[in-house]
Amino acid sequence: MTSDKLYNRIGQFLEDHRLVPDPAHYAFVHAILTQPNSSLAKAAAELIDGGVRLHQDDIQRLGGPAAGQRPMTREEPVAPSEPPPRDHLVDPAETRTDALAEQTQGHVEALSAMIRTIHADTSAFSANLERSAAEIRRGEPIGLATLAKLTGEMLERIHDSERRLEKATAEADALREKLVEARASARRDPLTGLANRLAFNESIGQCFQAPQSCCLALCDVDRFKRINDQHGHAVGDRVLNAIGQILSEEGHGHLVCRHGGEEFAILMTGVTMAQAHKLIDRAREAVREKRLRVRETGESIGEVTFSAGLTGFRPDDTHETVFARADALLYRAKNEGRNRICRD
Ligand code: GH3
Ligand code: MG
Ligand code: MG
Repeated sequence: MTSDKLYNRIGQFLEDHRLVPDPAHYAFVHAILTQPNSSLAKAAAELIDGGVRLHQDDIQRLGGPAAGQRPMTREEPVAPSEPPPRDHLVDPAETRTDALAEQTQGHVEALSAMIRTIHADTSAFSANLERSAAEIRRGEPIGLATLAKLTGEMLERIHDSERRLEKATAEADALREKLVEARASARRDPLTGLANRLAFNESIGQCFQAPQSCCLALCDVDRFKRINDQHGHAVGDRVLNAIGQILSEEGHGHLVCRHGGEEFAILMTGVTMAQAHKLIDRAREAVREKRLRVRETGESIGEVTFSAGLTGFRPDDTHETVFARADALLYRAKNEGRNRICRD
């Protein structure tokens, strides 16, 4: 069939059935006219037999797309296409999340299209079965042959659906893994690999439930700006990374997070204030003792220290009150000469 002829036939069909020339209806009519032997086309043919007008609801019932939806075809890929390239200034983590969201949405749409197709197949099959059963009841000889043909066709469709469902399941599994990874990386600071503020805020809730045994330490690197100024931002980054590793080792078993810039937060659970103080002080000493050098030149970076504000959770604490207290104590530690811990 030439394109012109097909186009005219689709137009005529839409007009005959008073269907709005919406892309979804166009795709449905296109599918039944170009694949006249498909079960969809046969089911549609049965409905309009005797000049009955096809209604929009019939199309949906047969598994066709609802008006305004994306057109569905049997060949629709299960895997959605890659998202278009994005502006290089966009945050890569956000872009990844957007891409995953698009991928998930595409996958869900492809799955629902597949389910509609299977539904259309089974509806058409059951209609044909009913007709054949009636023929058999009437003792017409044609019944068994038609039944055998129908069953063969249906088996083929079932196998086809099974293959497509298997592929879709494998893709859903891969997508699930990617989502788990994305969820984890959204909660990690890329420079130090430590938990970030989002992960921290999600975990702090448990301390409001059992405040008696929880402590929060806010640790801020002393005179960090000088390190950047003297050695450059890249060296500053490496120093932050080194401090992050020390805090992570010393705070093993507790939640160590890069709270932002050159500030780290440590959430300790199941400890007394004295134990928490000991832990943070050991970490402070370990950072101070570390002899950091610029890798390329061997130049010493000198003594690096941090100050900390340490507070215990109270029964009526909120996120704001506990952080405000730790922050005020940190401020005091800075004012009292740095390289020290102030606690309440
Ligand atoms: P103080 O002892 O009072 O805390 O002094 P400070 O110099 O550490 O504090 P200030 O707030 O003046 O400067 C913090 C500096 O930390 C400024 C900022 O450029 C730097 N900084 C924040 N985040 C990063 C980062 O990710 N990498 C690097 N290299 N520097 C950072
Ligand atoms: Mg700071
Ligand atoms: Mg600082």
